[in-house]
Amino acid sequence: MTSVIFCQEAKELLDAFGQTVQVLIKLHEEQFQSVVGGELDSTRFDDLIHMANERKHEAKYAYLHHLETHGCSTYDGSNQK
Ligand SMILES: [Zn+2]
Repeated sequence: MTSVIFCQEAKELLDAFGQTVQVLIKLHEEQFQSVVGGELDSTRFDDLIHMANERKHEAKYAYLHHLETHGCSTYDGSNQK
C-alpha cells in the first residue's frame, strides 16, 4: 500500500471542499450562459461567485488545517484517531 489513507474526518472535509469547488464551477457556467444569452449585467453572479469563493477557501483551510494538526495524511491505516 503506497496510497495515503486519510481518516474519516479528513475525507469529509475533502468532500466538503470538493462540493464548494463544484458550486463555483456551476456558478461560472451559469454566468457564462447568461452572458451568451445576452445578459451583460451579470453582477449578481459576481456576488454569488465571491461568496462561493470564500466558502471554498474556508473549506480548503479547514481541510489543510486538519491534516496539519491531525497528521493523518502521513499515516497509513494506523488506527490512531
Ligand atoms: Zn485526520
